[in-house]
Amino acid sequence: MKTIYAKIKKELISEIAAAKLFIIRYGLNIDGIDLERRIEGYPERYRTKRSIKNIGIQDNCLVDREKRDVPWIPEEIFIMIDDKESVVKTNYKPDALFQLEIKQDQLIVHAPELGIQIPCRLSPRQDIFEQSINGFPADQYVQVIGSDRLSVLGYDGCANWFYKTQCLFCDSCAVRPDEVKARPSLNDLHVNFADSIPKWLAQVEKNYLSGLAKAFRLVLENKGFGPHCHLLVMAGNLMDMHHAWEYILRLSATLSREKPLTEIDSYLNMLPPPNIAYIDQAYKTGFKNLIFNLEVFGEKFFKAVCKGKHDLVPYNQFIDRMNDAAAIFGSGHARCGFVLGAQPVDVLKEGVLSLAQKGVVSDYSVFTPKKGTPWERRKQPDILEVASFSRFLAGIYHKYHFKPLYCSMSSRSSIMNECYEATCDQ
Ligand code: SF4
Repeated sequence: MKTIYAKIKKELISEIAAAKLFIIRYGLNIDGIDLERRIEGYPERYRTKRSIKNIGIQDNCLVDREKRDVPWIPEEIFIMIDDKESVVKTNYKPDALFQLEIKQDQLIVHAPELGIQIPCRLSPRQDIFEQSINGFPADQYVQVIGSDRLSVLGYDGCANWFYKTQCLFCDSCAVRPDEVKARPSLNDLHVNFADSIPKWLAQVEKNYLSGLAKAFRLVLENKGFGPHCHLLVMAGNLMDMHHAWEYILRLSATLSREKPLTEIDSYLNMLPPPNIAYIDQAYKTGFKNLIFNLEVFGEKFFKAVCKGKHDLVPYNQFIDRMNDAAAIFGSGHARCGFVLGAQPVDVLKEGVLSLAQKGVVSDYSVFTPKKGTPWERRKQPDILEVASFSRFLAGIYHKYHFKPLYCSMSSRSSIMNECYEATCDQ
């Protein structure tokens, strides 16, 4: 493993990129109970999540079915190497090579096998989020991801799960059966409104958008984020793309009234709309970037891996809308996310190149098998392949004058910011 680590460091020309890639690819062993015992205010004062999830449909609702009282682990950590800092999303693995430890009062990521100890810190939950808005904590409306990405979700859930057409790698993000959230929920739409989107929105939208406007104002006034301000607005799939786009554009206009989206590094992440007019409207609402995640390149792969997405937006239409987005938003401002490891890497490279020629930037996350998904036993991509793909993608960014997504302080699942920076002089 030591030799592989050295090879990766050489390929990426960056120690922090190599360490981050190892943690993303191989996971992190974390003893949440020990952290609770030794860190004051843990888990409440930090961004944390339950260590084990078991997502699925129960009583017609998409929920986390894990019943055990499992420990809380950090949602993300900041690692520090050579005065550089980078945020990493944690993927809990009890047998991982890297472990999160406290040594002489310092939190570290430790890999004894590699002889590596990396200082790190947890991601604090800001005090302002203790404030209640319409009966819910403020961070149920707006979250700060990493240190400077504000994240807003249109609603909880993705309709494809109800029709068993979810993407093969997806473990979604679902609430516990007894949890009540400020955000509108597709469980509610499905169970209490018999999938009637207009009736559901008539009931839930006004309250949510009023709470969202207050929370967004609160976050902006308190400026507890930095060094930049990236804003990501996103929503899972509704079975009617017109309703989904109309709703998300109303939500975005609400945010833009608090702070013009043109003044922020703003992103809208949705499935592409049925017609180009919505892309134009998103631009006029003030978004600077659009993200359409194709996940896999090529119609054959898209149909097989993301059946639900393909049912809603057929592959060719998806590609057309992505080209429309690059034409309207400008080259480098339409982005497409892929899952590295979901298809042969050569096919993906071909796709990345053809999209770049149209002005579309590709991003990727590394495929990680999730329990309970159809791909729970699928092999992860080889780490050397991930490093070499990252170098290839950095080359594309430099050639086409693209930039990596957000920055190293809020892009948690990719090493592209670190890799791009290290290859600037190459
Ligand atoms: S579109 Fe696919 S990846 Fe996204 S939430 Fe739905 S099922 Fe999961």
